Amino acid sequence: MRRVAVLGATGSIGASTLDVIARHPARFTASVLAAHSKVDELVALCVRFRPRLAVIADAALENELARKLRHAGVDCAVAGGPDAVTAAASGELCDTVVAAIVGAAGLESTLAAARAGKRLLLANKESIVMAGPLLLAALREGGGDLVPIDSEHNAIFQCLPGGRPALAAAGVRRIILTASGGPFRGRTRADLAAITPAQAVAHPRWSMGPKISVDSATLMNKGLEVIEAHYLFNAAPDDIQVLVHPQSLVHSLVEYLDGSVLAQLGNPDMRTALAHALAYPERIEAGVPPLDLATAGKLEFEDPDTETFRCLALAFAALRAGGDATAILNAANEVAVAAFLGGTLHFLGIADIVETVLAELPPEPVVDIPTLVARDGAARAAARRVLSRAYC
Ligand code: NAD
Ligand code: MG
Repeated sequence: MRRVAVLGATGSIGASTLDVIARHPARFTASVLAAHSKVDELVALCVRFRPRLAVIADAALENELARKLRHAGVDCAVAGGPDAVTAAASGELCDTVVAAIVGAAGLESTLAAARAGKRLLLANKESIVMAGPLLLAALREGGGDLVPIDSEHNAIFQCLPGGRPALAAAGVRRIILTASGGPFRGRTRADLAAITPAQAVAHPRWSMGPKISVDSATLMNKGLEVIEAHYLFNAAPDDIQVLVHPQSLVHSLVEYLDGSVLAQLGNPDMRTALAHALAYPERIEAGVPPLDLATAGKLEFEDPDTETFRCLALAFAALRAGGDATAILNAANEVAVAAFLGGTLHFLGIADIVETVLAELPPEPVVDIPTLVARDGAARAAARRVLSRAYC
């Protein structure tokens, strides 16, 4: 029986994870459920999944959670605060951790799971974008496996022999990440000036949380995924190509030296990646309808428009700049996306903020977590300064 800690249980990935777990009660148990602040949703999940431990990251809500769990007749341990989430990720109650917290807030728990040798199902791409070398070191130290959940990286993992081999030894020429293009594919910069948050989060293919939905609309999501692929598969920036594929049926491809190109296809449903990663190396039912290519229509592919969607180019630039530039990029983007969702920044301003902050904070070497967290803070402060200068 795999004992799974679902960090970010009340989110979109959390829901897909729990759906797969519920389909296989003899194989998996959700032993730890953690969320940020939605107490009632967490309680409802605890009633259904009966974890050994429920964690709420907002410590002020711990007592309310305990009371409501008691009232609902759930007998499990309760903890509160970010440190409790991190402790749960490395603790004895789980052997598998689904890292599905959104943003840099997921960093410490992801690292803790890696260091403790858990099987790490990595959805929280911001943690690897921010701290790639440190996360890889933590994985080596812990000796556990990492199976990517991001659909593109999960696809690449499936197309490579043994998941994450040395690419040169495996005869890989390049990695091709597909991108849906988001809701604004084909639009010009002028079209995008007045985009509202509601328009930006209405993704044509995937149903996801608000932050990643905005990232998909700006193509920053693809930029973060290029950086994620660089670290996960040790691929040079020049060996990673982005290809827009609006149907989102080909989840990514690996091109080999002999001209072979292997792709992973499926309906756009995160339960496929989650079922793959939970059961790896076995295969299990995920609840995803079979892909019917005869009725799927045309599969289209095109190059991305990086002049309109500047965030993708900025992410490549940060990756090439090296050091902690990708952490700066991520922090500035998180602040800018929050401002956009809050109605204080226009859509095109997201790229402007990220670009300005990258220019203000030239890269420094990645040394350790405290330094990185301080740089993340400095980048957030810089982003807020730029926001207040330009937009208030
Ligand atoms: P979401 O907004 O739906 O859910 C986020 C979850 O994180 C919630 O459960 C929330 O309670 C929790 N959370 C937020 N801040 C927290 C904090 N400070 N401490 C503890 N928990 C906190 O987001 P999502 O769409 O499920 O995405 C989660 C992660 O997975 C993101 O990093 C995203 O990029 C990645 N991802 C998501 C998808 C998808 O299809 N949704 C696909 C690929 C990758
Ligand atoms: Mg993805």
